[in-house]
Amino acid sequence: MHHKTIAELSTELAAKRISSVELTRLYLERIQHFNNILNSFITITEEHALQAAKQADELRSQGKAGALTGIPIAQKDIFCTDGIKTTCGSKMLDNFIAPYDATVVKNLKLAGTVMLGKTNMDEFAMGSSNETSYYGPTKNPWNIDYVPGGSSGGSAAAVAGCLTPAATGTDTGGSIRQPAALCGITGIKPTYGRVSRFGMIAFASSLDQGGPLAKTAEDCALLLNAMSGFDEKDSTSVNQPVPDYTANLNHSIKGIRIGLPKEYFSHGLSNEVATAIQTAIKEYEKLGAVIEEISLPNTGLSVPVYYVIAPAECSSNLARYDGVRYGYRCKDPVDLQDLYKRSRSEGFGSEVKRRIMVGTYVLSAGYYDAYYLKAQKVRRLIRDDFAQAFKKVDVILSPTTPTPAFKFGEKTHDPISMYLSDIYTIAVNLAGLPGISIPAGFVNRLPIGMQLIGNLFDEAKLLNIAHQYQKITDWHKQIPEGF
Ligand code: GLN
Repeated sequence: MHHKTIAELSTELAAKRISSVELTRLYLERIQHFNNILNSFITITEEHALQAAKQADELRSQGKAGALTGIPIAQKDIFCTDGIKTTCGSKMLDNFIAPYDATVVKNLKLAGTVMLGKTNMDEFAMGSSNETSYYGPTKNPWNIDYVPGGSSGGSAAAVAGCLTPAATGTDTGGSIRQPAALCGITGIKPTYGRVSRFGMIAFASSLDQGGPLAKTAEDCALLLNAMSGFDEKDSTSVNQPVPDYTANLNHSIKGIRIGLPKEYFSHGLSNEVATAIQTAIKEYEKLGAVIEEISLPNTGLSVPVYYVIAPAECSSNLARYDGVRYGYRCKDPVDLQDLYKRSRSEGFGSEVKRRIMVGTYVLSAGYYDAYYLKAQKVRRLIRDDFAQAFKKVDVILSPTTPTPAFKFGEKTHDPISMYLSDIYTIAVNLAGLPGISIPAGFVNRLPIGMQLIGNLFDEAKLLNIAHQYQKITDWHKQIPEGF
């Protein structure tokens, strides 16, 4: 049962072959058993889950069930949950209980899903390996010596290890797509503004976007239906109708134009990943897609630009953790300065501090023009590159990451090499575009992800193109041994 997709579980529930309470118990038992190994959950909400499952079963018996009613899911611990601890992977928020639900949490609740718990993540979503979490790293179920990716690594590992059928994530520079790739599952980062950021703890507000991680594009479509939509509580949420993503999954992709950015297939890309992606491209050709080479000339600038803009925004967003209002407070401060200083130095981990310092520097009076303003101008050029490309092609295809999962400790002492894990995902956030990662092969039993990038609000198109690939391949059906 736990190998099934949401779509399949939904059928099981509808046919009354299993109840939501039984299904929820099954996943809770798996979490009890495997979380010691994977460390993918920070909080397990057993009582809450069983209660919600019972309600879902009642709704179903009254004939009021939708596609997601009674489906267990997990929430990344960056989404505020009413009455349940929300840590954002940080000591700073180890004692924080939100007094309200994030809109994503609320929407998924309204759709009838059952929350199993809150998943592990890099501290304040800063990282690509889950190694910056205050709660210790999450392990990759394909091989526990390897990272699951980050920052939504807890969510990705939990889905890959079948501890939950699906989970939420957030993506500022790749944090849904990169862990999805490294764990062999499907994850979509929607267009900026498609999913509300209300109640989603802010890292870099102009880049952050929530989205689902699941086994298949079809499941992502089901979840995105519930997660998307205008929210007056988020001023950057876009007031545009949400299409029915599941109703758009069966269009032929004959004649569709797929662009391959030459800059994404150059040095830095491992041979094995390149070979897997070439094979996937052939599958698309079989489906009638037309493949074209394109150029995104400013690609090389995306990582440097991101590491000016994201730290700048984070230094501002994280100024609120001052030991006064909520979160960690140091012991026995001698005065107000001491309270601020020690609460922040004791409460934040080193990667977060590095970002706050870089961000403060690039925003300071003497350096603002040289760094922050310049980065914003280059960001525009990166966006324009995509706009040009989408005049010629419908979607862009690339690897999600340059290599498969790496070992723990391999990149922790070299931040730049860690930052380069997101080389193919970051530009998509800078341009505000939607991107999906789908499983496309293995190297030494470690999964490889393929990324599809769409034009603004083209989620339906991306999900359909991903779904067509999943109908003729079975990479997404592979389950790590022992799970
Ligand atoms: N790995 C990138 C970073 O460390 C992206 C993180 C994210 O998307 N939240 O900032």
